[in-house]
Parts: sequence; C-alpha cells; structure tokens
Amino acid sequence: MTETVIQVAYLIAAFLFITALRALGRPDSARRGMQLAAFGMAVAVVATLLQARIVTFEWIAVGAVVGSVAGYPLGRWVPMTAMPQRIALSHALGALAATLVGVGEYSHDIALAAMTRSHVLALSFEVLLGSLTVTGSAMAFGKLQEILPGRPVTFPYQNIVNLVLVATALGCLGWLIAYPMDARVFVSMIGIAALVGVLFVLPIGGADMPVVVSLLNSYAGLAAVATGFAIDNNILIIVGALDGLSGLILSLAMSKAMNRSFTNVLFGAFGAEASVASDVAAGGEMSETTAENAALRLAYAERVIMVPGYGLAVSQAQHQMRELGESIQKRGGEVRYAIHPVAGRMPGHMNVLLAEAGVPYDKLVDMDEINERFADTDVAVVVGANDVVNPAARTDRASPIYGMPILKVVDAKSVLVLKRGRGKGFSGVDNGLFVDPKTSMLFGDARQSLLDLGAEVKSA
Ligand code: NAP
Repeated sequence: MTETVIQVAYLIAAFLFITALRALGRPDSARRGMQLAAFGMAVAVVATLLQARIVTFEWIAVGAVVGSVAGYPLGRWVPMTAMPQRIALSHALGALAATLVGVGEYSHDIALAAMTRSHVLALSFEVLLGSLTVTGSAMAFGKLQEILPGRPVTFPYQNIVNLVLVATALGCLGWLIAYPMDARVFVSMIGIAALVGVLFVLPIGGADMPVVVSLLNSYAGLAAVATGFAIDNNILIIVGALDGLSGLILSLAMSKAMNRSFTNVLFGAFGAEASVASDVAAGGEMSETTAENAALRLAYAERVIMVPGYGLAVSQAQHQMRELGESIQKRGGEVRYAIHPVAGRMPGHMNVLLAEAGVPYDKLVDMDEINERFADTDVAVVVGANDVVNPAARTDRASPIYGMPILKVVDAKSVLVLKRGRGKGFSGVDNGLFVDPKTSMLFGDARQSLLDLGAEVKSA
C-alpha cells in the first residue's frame, strides 16, 4: 500500500516538473514554473521519506537542517550577476551527493558480498559522472568567482592527455563489470574522473563558463539517472533525464546564439582576457556626449529602443532603465526593450532583470522582431551592451564573432551608448558601432548615467 502511495506521488512530482519546465520557457509564467518545481520537489522528498528502506531519520534531519541553513541565504542574497557561479556550486554539491550515494551503495554491497554486474555498471556510471561533475563544477565556480584565473590554461598535448584519462576511466568501468568486487579499481576510477573534471575545465575561458556549467548540469542529470537505476528509484531516473536533456539543449542553444560550435566552446580557449578598445583599431574616433545633450534627444524622440547588455546587470540598473523608459513615454515617445538571447552572462538574463524591474512583458521584444524596427527608431539607447550590437558580426569575416546574430542597432537614426569607458565586451574585439558618426558615447556607470538621463528628461 505504502509503495503504491510513493509511486503515485512520484508520478505527480514528475508531472509537476514537466509542467514547471514548460512554464519556465516564458518570462510571464517563469515564477509560477519555479513554484511548481519547488512543490514537485517537496512531494518527491515527502514520498521518499516514506520508503521502508530508511532505517533512521536522525541523519536525514541533520542533512535537511544544514541544507536549508546553507541554501536559504544562497537563494536570497546572491546577486543576479553571480548566478552562473552559484549554479555551478549547486551542481558540484548535487553531484557530490550522487557520488557519495554511489560509494555508500558500493561499500554496502561489498560488505554483503552481494554485488551484481548490472548494479556495479549503474554505480560506476554514477560515480564516474558524479565525480567529474564535482571537480568540473568546482573549477567553473572558481573561475567565475575569480578565485582561480579566468583565462584559458593550456599545456602541450592537453587533449591527448584528457583522452587517455577518459579511456582509462572507461577501462576501469569495463574491468569492474568483469570483476565487480575490485574496490581499488572502483576508487581509482573516481580519482581519474575527478582529475578529468579539472583538466576539462582548465582550458576554457571564464567567459565561456556558462556554457560549460550548463553542460555539467547535464552530466549531473545523467549521474542522477544512474543513481536512480542503482537504488531503484523512479523519480531520480525521470528528474535526472529531464535535467540531463535540458542542460544539453541549453548548452547547444547558447553555442548557437553565439554562432560558435560546441567543440569551439569546449576546446577553443576563447574570450580570454578583457582589454581596452582603441578608436584606431575600430577605424575612427568616439564622440562623447553629456547627459543633458543626450536627454534632449530622448525627450523629443518619437520611437526609442532600449538595448540592455551585461553592463546593465553589473550596475544593477534595471529599475533606472524602466524609470527612464517611463519618463520618455510620459512625454509621448514609444519605448521598447530589445532582448538578445545571449546578452548578459546567462540565457534569458535580460528578460529576468527587466521583468524583475516591472517592465511590462509586451514591451520586451525578441531579436528577430525588434531588428525590423530599428530603421524607424529615432534613438537606440545601448546600456552596457557590446558584442550583441557589434556590426562586425555581420560585416567582418575575419572577426571571431562573425556570424553571431546581433541586434541591428546600427540601423537606428541615432545611437546613444552608455558604458563606463573604452572596455571591450566578452569576446575582446573592437566595436565599430562606437565610432560610427551617428553614435554618441555617454561614459559612466550605467546606473548613474540612467539616473542623470532620467532627471534631465523630466526637466527638459
Ligand atoms: P559584453 O559584450 O560582455 O559587453 C558588456 C559591456 O558592458 C562592456 O563593454 C563594458 O564596457 C560594459 N560595462 C560593464 N560594466 C558596466 C557598468 N557598470 N556600467 C556600464 N557599462 C558597463 O555584453 P553583451 O553585449 O551583453 O554580450 C554578452 C556576451 O557574453 C556575448 O559575447 C555572449 O556571446 C557572451 N555569453 C553570453 C552568455 C549568455 O548565456 N548570455 C553565455 C556565455 C557567453 P566598459 O568596461 O567600458 O564599461
């Protein structure tokens, strides 16, 4: 009877997770999606606590308290710009849990001399993927948090060394199927997989980490599937498969939106160092403006498009952007917000920021649709965006970002760019838009510049 209740609860949880994933696909239903997923997780946890296999609840209670005490501040206070590293940390911890379950199950079966080939196969996959994800995600966290150097670290024959290590780990897996009780090989396999995790992330630049984090998410999902098979738990198999596939799809979607092949992201050592743009390299002089002059143009513009990028997230200026938009609208101008799929440092970053600031969803316009509107736009206001508006992606075959779909800001009648100085974007290349004769540069932190513009527009 209890077993039936558990399986029905798992079915309900699975339904909630799938519905949540659908809801997460749109900014207006994303919050509901998160709530559904959290509820689904609560159902799955309660059902798991009914399992007859549980012999004592004390350690479970300790784990739940420690997890809640650590998780609440992480969820509440980590800023949006630090979200990629926070997610990397969660993956490392999730994968550590899967690896520890695998080690626990293996020692238990060894002690009872009850290890079967199919069981050791599932456990080996679990610890192999789990251990690789723990160290890979920890490295990604370190690079993103700038505890470790963000630049790609390479050494001769790196890919060959990695391949040999992966082959050795798979060799251990094969050996364990033949000799399931060989604990030394089991432990060695975990160690080798941990080393692969470190070496796999080492040559990848800090700025490419979001793609890697998403790929590691997929590995953590597959480790959970293997755990599900190893301990005969259906919800782990379902959730792990959802996690594994959605992580892979997300990594591919990010690579596609950057027009980079997956292999180029993983082995290309791209986006190494931030450097300073030069007017000469971009072929001209930047023309500076003041908030007062720029505001005059905005106050009398009929159509304005706001173009947010990573710098908006850094300066947390989303509320000031909405306020400026509202001031322009009060004066009769039409304002829209252009959303590039990889603006910022995680997919949907700009959607999330602007939705949080209360910009109405119908004002957030996707790249393909907004690109047709730039030509009749009086002023395009670029706030902390660089690569996603760089015309070189369309015109310069030699540029590393050639082929990446961009927002066609350059088609607007005039362009106002808000950034701190002459720093380059994520890809480290010059941007001809900034030296275009119709572009004016307003230097300063995005939040302060937007505040100044807002005040000037109101008084214009
Ligand atoms: P970007 O190319 O990284 O440029 C951001 C610009 O913001 C910089 O040029 C910087 O110039 C400026 N900035 C930084 N802090 C600022 C502040 N406090 N106030 C004002 N300006 C500030 O950003 P993007 O145009 O959004 O493009 C995103 C890039 O990230 C793309 O190349 C994309 O491929 C890559 N990427 C995205 C994702 C994703 O999932 N979204 C994942 C991986 C990689 P200053 O230093 O001069 O201020």
